[in-house]
Amino acid sequence: MNSQREIIAYFSMEIALEPALPTYSGGLGMLAGDTIRSAADLKVPMVAVTSLHRQGYFAQKLDANGWQTETPVVWNVGEHCRELPARAQVAIEGRPVWLRAWQYTVKGRSGHELPVFLLDTDLPENSTWDRALTNHLYGGDAWYRLCQEIVLGIGGVRMLQALGYHDISRFHMNEGHAALLGLELLDERARSSGRDVFNHDDVQAIQQSCVFTTHTPVPAGHDRFPLELVSRALGRSDFAAHHDVFCCEGELNMTYLALNLSHYVNGVAKKHGEVSRHLLLPKDAFHHYQIDHITNGVHLATWASPPFAKLFDRFVPGWREDNASLRGVLNIPQQEVWKAHVAAKEKLVQEINRRANAGFDADIFTLAFARRAATYKRAHLLLTDPSRLKRIVAEAGGLQIVYAGKAHPRDNPGKGLIQQIIQTRKELLPEVRLVYLENYDWELARLLVAGVDVWLNTPEPPLEASGTSGMKAALNGVPSLSILDGWWLEGCVEHLTGWAIGKTNSIADSPDARNRRDVQSLYQKLEEVVLPTFQQRREDWLRIMRHAIALNASHFNTQRMVEEYVLKAYFE
Ligand SMILES: *Cc1c(COP(=O)(O)O)cnc(C)c1O
Repeated sequence: MNSQREIIAYFSMEIALEPALPTYSGGLGMLAGDTIRSAADLKVPMVAVTSLHRQGYFAQKLDANGWQTETPVVWNVGEHCRELPARAQVAIEGRPVWLRAWQYTVKGRSGHELPVFLLDTDLPENSTWDRALTNHLYGGDAWYRLCQEIVLGIGGVRMLQALGYHDISRFHMNEGHAALLGLELLDERARSSGRDVFNHDDVQAIQQSCVFTTHTPVPAGHDRFPLELVSRALGRSDFAAHHDVFCCEGELNMTYLALNLSHYVNGVAKKHGEVSRHLLLPKDAFHHYQIDHITNGVHLATWASPPFAKLFDRFVPGWREDNASLRGVLNIPQQEVWKAHVAAKEKLVQEINRRANAGFDADIFTLAFARRAATYKRAHLLLTDPSRLKRIVAEAGGLQIVYAGKAHPRDNPGKGLIQQIIQTRKELLPEVRLVYLENYDWELARLLVAGVDVWLNTPEPPLEASGTSGMKAALNGVPSLSILDGWWLEGCVEHLTGWAIGKTNSIADSPDARNRRDVQSLYQKLEEVVLPTFQQRREDWLRIMRHAIALNASHFNTQRMVEEYVLKAYFE
């Protein structure tokens, strides 16, 4: 590997760069951020390209009825990023749209710098509409989204050239939003050989430069645009002629475009790789997709709470440089682990009471459910039978539940779910306290994953591609109680790193039957195993906390993950 010349360009529509910057919506952006933080630590020669999102994703407010409203989060770009003089241009409906890039620099542990270029169309040369193209993450209609993806994919490649990067060896598409970068690479290659249109050889050559990570196990999650929209935007009509690249009937499917133009494709957990292989069957006879998996991770130095970071520094020095060494947590005296947990829990409880005046108590067993409020995640599952839940916890000295999570602005069923949860609050008192905290973000996630006793996850399998918040919890000694889906199929060792809800292979049932069975299993685990262990067998509980860290944080980290990308996708 020639590390001076071979540069990886990592493209992602969202990247969580630091808590104050609203440049991400959730797991995808957080993963992108953790990826580049570990790549910088490992000195991987990488640059990252994303969109600026001048008005952020959104800030969530919940009104008295529990209904979500959204407000923009305007941030001062110049305070955090440096404007670069380079300009690039893309054509949308034949008119030039100019872009600039702002640079944010991620510094690795040993000082290695990884530049992130945030694309911005807010330039006086552009029309008012075009100037707003990099304002909203996942905002607007299909037309707006398509134009945004033209800016990210095509504009991103041109911007890298304008910045002097002529030696990119691999383009990594983190999800399909950036797939149009492949089209630009094809056109570029044809042009440089003096041809107007690309050919089959160009496609094969471009595949060698591209890597694609898919994140969505549902067809509806894949970005698709009607071909007439794409033709109008890009002023070209060669899509039918290149059916083998663009696929499918009457629409441009960004997932298939990325698949067709990549030599290495992966899902984000072992199970998700399998699901993707079934879901993304070739639409014709030309293709045979090989889809591997690289299981996600988290950046440990980012997600260890201060009390645990201190504890690791004392007992496992070097853990930030060598994540796998966290196996050594098994040598830490149990009481030290408990002390660190209590410190993290007290901090969270204080914050909950400050934000919501919720009367939470650090001595009471506390569960969290914090994730995007999409219906398939089944946030309400735990609350299916409030009186049964109250009976279960009455003997165990009570239960506190903290919920958090935003619904996408146009996801009314998701918003309804939040409302339903909030309205269950009164029914649960006094045995169970419940609070729904507004505005789940990096800052809040940091407190939650470390400060609760158990991290709950109840997605409808197989819809959780990976999930990463449970990995953050594990790092802080917080075991998961979760449906066996995504990463938990790999991370769950029953009663040692946490507990499984239900069984694997529950795909065939009707949704109602599955809900009934899963909630049954959830209540049973709480009643018979989790609560009695927490309340009566503290030694056992501390053994579980330490194994959550030693077995799971030592593996489900972005250091191991980036090393896998390097071996399997970047420099192979
Ligand atoms: C880690 C994280 C996520 C992703 O977690 P999931 O387990 O995929 O839900 C989402 N949002 C924030 C703020 C996070 O920190």
